[in-house]
Amino acid sequence: MAGDADIEIAHATDALLRARYVIALTGAGLSVESGIPPFRGPGGLWTKHGEPPMNGYERFLADPKQAWADRLEPRGPMRELWDALAAARPNPGHVALADLETLGVLKALITQNVDDLHRQAGSQRLLEIHGNATLIRCLECVARFPRAEIPTDALPPRCPRCGGLLKSDTVSFGEPIPPDVLMRCEHEAERADCVVVAGTSATVYPAAHFPIAVHARGGTLIEVNPHPSELTPMCAVSLRRESGIALPQLVERVRARLARH
Ligand SMILES: [Zn+2]
Repeated sequence: MAGDADIEIAHATDALLRARYVIALTGAGLSVESGIPPFRGPGGLWTKHGEPPMNGYERFLADPKQAWADRLEPRGPMRELWDALAAARPNPGHVALADLETLGVLKALITQNVDDLHRQAGSQRLLEIHGNATLIRCLECVARFPRAEIPTDALPPRCPRCGGLLKSDTVSFGEPIPPDVLMRCEHEAERADCVVVAGTSATVYPAAHFPIAVHARGGTLIEVNPHPSELTPMCAVSLRRESGIALPQLVERVRARLARH
C-alpha cells in the first residue's frame, strides 16, 4: 500500500471532521462499479449505439403514448440499460455513504444517478437530481409513484392524484430538473462547507454548480475519482481510487476517530 494514499485518507478524514455541514455529490462512476454501463467513454451505451436524440422531453410531450410504449418494450441501448439497472446492486461505495450519514457526518447526498442504488444502500437524505428509474412522476403536481402502482393498460397513464400526464421520473434530455429537487439541492449546497465529490467529473450542470459554489465560498472539496477531472484543481484532497475502495477506507477512519472522542 502506498503511504501517499494513506496520507490522503488522513487529510480527507480531517476535512470531514472539521466541517460543519458535509454534503456529497455522486455520479456515473459509482453506478459503473455496480455493473451499469456508462453513456459515454469506453463501453458506453452511446459510444456503441450512437448518441440518442437530444430532445427526448420534447418528443415525449409530442407523443406520450408512443414514448410510453417504447418505455414498456425497450429496444437496443435502452433495453441494455434497463436490464443492467434491474440487475444492479449497491457496492461498498454506496454502503459507505449511507454509513457516513448514519454516523451523523453526511447531511445530504445529491446524486446524478437514476439507478436507486443509494436508496437500496440505505441513504435517507437523498436528492436524485436526474430522477429515479423505479419511479413515475406526474408532470403536473410532481407527485412520484412506484412503477408497480401505476397501471399501464391505457397509455399514457394518468396521475391518480390530479389526472396529469405521467412520465418516468428520470429526467429526459431537454427536460427541466423537477423544481422540488432542484430547490432542495440549492438549499443543501448553500449550507455546506464541505463536499465529497465521488465518481463524477462534475461537468454536467446544474450538478456541477454545487461543488464549485461551495468552493467559491471557501468550502473544502474532497474528490474520489480514479481520474483527474476539471474539479481537481479546486479539491483539497483527491483520492485516486474507485469509490468502492476509497469510500469504505475513509468512512472506517472517520468512524474510528469519532469512537475515540
Ligand atoms: Zn398529479
